[in-house]
Amino acid sequence: MEIVPIPLLSDNYGYLLIHADGTRAAIVDCSEAAPVLAEVARRNLKLEAILATHWHFDHVGGNEEVARAVPGIRVLGSAGEEGRVPALTEPLADGDEFEVVGVRGRAIAIPSHTKGHVAYFFQEGTPSVFSGDTLFAAGCGRLFEGSAEQMAHSLAKLMALPDETRVYCGHEYTEGNLRFAHSLEPTNSDINAKIERVRALRADDQPSIPSTIAEEKLTNPFVRASSTELQASVRARYPDLGDDPIAVFAKTRELKDNF
Ligand code: FE
Ligand code: ZN
Repeated sequence: MEIVPIPLLSDNYGYLLIHADGTRAAIVDCSEAAPVLAEVARRNLKLEAILATHWHFDHVGGNEEVARAVPGIRVLGSAGEEGRVPALTEPLADGDEFEVVGVRGRAIAIPSHTKGHVAYFFQEGTPSVFSGDTLFAAGCGRLFEGSAEQMAHSLAKLMALPDETRVYCGHEYTEGNLRFAHSLEPTNSDINAKIERVRALRADDQPSIPSTIAEEKLTNPFVRASSTELQASVRARYPDLGDDPIAVFAKTRELKDNF
């Protein structure tokens, strides 16, 4: 399948998944109907499914309108968010498999930003994962409905995917996230190199997405609790910090909330 990011709202991405035969498509995180339907029409595609990572309006705001415009469309989302994901037809639990645009996918429960948040993983070809507002490039979502421990566990589940997995997240937050990452690990050359790459892309109006699981391991402060430089930076602000990775993660998240 081909994956095309569609900028939506102010800094969201919806992702069009296009069947290898070029006739059918699905949309991940349909926050707005009009731009999605326009892109589908421009490419002469038949829209067969919507996939929702979580119930927030900026990820599902277009579901009802698209479902009205495309009768019979499948709407996949978290079983834990039934009633909150509009027009849901296929509630999925952790590990549930499904097929869209001719490709097998799997739902992975990654709670904490919301209780029922799911990622969608596709193994075929170069693997890809749609991580919504849980894993961002160089960042993670706010802990609205879960604990730091839950978020750290959710991120660890994603980090266990193959290193080459492309990461498609819900927002274009990468530049700001990398500024924060740099503040904690100023000598991390992977972060510094990625800042340059992302600035060039953004200056050219290109998405900074996708990242990869390998890149996240090197640059994302929320999966780098074992970095001694990061620990020292966090400890400078929280002198009582031990070396429990969950505690390091929790304080890193707190620092980001106030960055
Ligand atoms: Fe969001
Ligand atoms: Zn959200």
